Amino acid sequence: MVDFDLQRYRKGSRLMLSKRDIETIADAVLQDFKPQALKDPIALSADEFLEQYLGCHLRYENLSNNGSILGMVVYNGGKLIVYDKDNDNIEEIFLRGKTVLIDNLLLAEEQRGRYEFTGFHEGGHCILHQPETVSGFFDHRKTIVCRTSETFARFKNLTTDEDWAEWQADYFSACMKLPRRIVRMVAIDAMRGIGVKKDCVTSYERDVYRECCEYLPRLIASIFTTSRTAAKYRLMELKILKEKRVQPIVFQKNSEGVEYVC
Ligand SMILES: [Zn+2]
Repeated sequence: MVDFDLQRYRKGSRLMLSKRDIETIADAVLQDFKPQALKDPIALSADEFLEQYLGCHLRYENLSNNGSILGMVVYNGGKLIVYDKDNDNIEEIFLRGKTVLIDNLLLAEEQRGRYEFTGFHEGGHCILHQPETVSGFFDHRKTIVCRTSETFARFKNLTTDEDWAEWQADYFSACMKLPRRIVRMVAIDAMRGIGVKKDCVTSYERDVYRECCEYLPRLIASIFTTSRTAAKYRLMELKILKEKRVQPIVFQKNSEGVEYVC
């Protein structure tokens, strides 16, 4: 496994990583784990990444009674409380060593994309957030509890160490599952196939934008095994789909009292 000097990103109890930092780390991990993914469009397997590359135990449990927790990383093993669905109660399980847990909800076939995203999110924690590197949000058993988000929408205000770590793990997952250069290559090739000559489409071009918003995420999701939501947000992140907001027209008066649009 690649070894990163993450201490240099450390500020107090948290890591300060930019999107570019995370993308650079993800590319180095891909180069080590599956170099082919940096050359060709392939669907990486979260199971293979977690078990064979990172050496984690992988378990499926009911992590909550309402589906609010999708994944967990337990670094030190030991006892853990999970939800016993059959008896609507809690139960204690025992974990051996570093374990990634995925909620049973994500095992449904239609949840496959979210399962993969969550698996790589937990893998991101394993690489970026070792208890000895960041300390702020771990409990006494060195556990991270996750509610992953493929849209990053919940991250408008990052305040706590935990917020930052969750955002970093989500972004790492997107970079791993949907590598920048390969996704751009596939998307632009697909756009040429439907007659789009530019490398991006904006929402001003209504019909073609609507067509690309429908077609591209579906294509990317099926090739890389992600959800369409994750694919669409990655395409927006890569500025292939550009949603332009209409700016309100503001009138101001100049020194001579003449109105102008600013
Ligand atoms: Zn997490």
